[in-house]
Amino acid sequence: LSVSTRVLPAGLDEDTTILYLVHDVTALIESERTREKLATVVSHELRNPLTVIAGHTELALDDVDDAPQLAEHLRVISGAATRMDALIAELLTHARGGFSAEPAWTAVDLTELLRLSLESFAPTAEARGVRLTADIESGLLVDGDAFRLRQVIDNVLSNAIKYTGADGSVRLVARTVEHSALIEVSDTGMGIDADDLGHVFEPYFRARSAQDSGVGGTGLGMGIVREILVAHRGEIGLESTVGKGTLVRMRIPLSDAWVLI
Ligand code: ADP
Repeated sequence: LSVSTRVLPAGLDEDTTILYLVHDVTALIESERTREKLATVVSHELRNPLTVIAGHTELALDDVDDAPQLAEHLRVISGAATRMDALIAELLTHARGGFSAEPAWTAVDLTELLRLSLESFAPTAEARGVRLTADIESGLLVDGDAFRLRQVIDNVLSNAIKYTGADGSVRLVARTVEHSALIEVSDTGMGIDADDLGHVFEPYFRARSAQDSGVGGTGLGMGIVREILVAHRGEIGLESTVGKGTLVRMRIPLSDAWVLI
């Protein structure tokens, strides 16, 4: 809060009206902070893959006659472009006010969706030396937006893997609990400090443990995840211990549960 006062010229009597101007600048400061955070994300997170693309394009031009080497550079370029695409999607989702776009509502085979997401992260987990295991119940059906639900699982799994170092493990368990699909993603990673835990859904928030580790991120993923789950009448909760690991617990009503509600 800022208060502006003006000293009146001497010689004015009690009848003088004094005008105090009071401006609530909380929103202004907040939007300035958001702008700063956005600038950090864009400069760090988008620049990294862009540098990779620029570097490997140069190398690809040098190796243009060496097909296997050229293919390797193109693979790296493609991976960096995919990462940039995901980052931009996160920034846009946030800029548009989150999950406001009209969801494409259909019956979703959650079992299949979870298996596909898991499969897509197998190479990342392997590259980081993280053991990825799962126990997914068959026939889990929910109503919702398959693309958005995939975003949820991908975000949570990718966090679990990237915040877990080599020799750690990540486990995904999905089963029916009282007309809902209960999805639990647990990891043996760096964990989140108790003071930080309540903030992980805030836009651009990154826990101290994540910042200290040097692992990149926008701090937007978990907020988007929660919004999508809420739009599906679902829930999300986190339990974590620094140095031990994190458990993310999500609940989404099963298709038949909508009839009962
Ligand atoms: P980011 O892009 O930084 O990963 P998210 O919004 O996905 O952002 O997550 C917010 C913060 O929550 C992360 O920066 C990290 O500090 C913390 N976090 C989320 N998932 C995990 C996890 N599995 N283990 C440790 N920290 C996590």
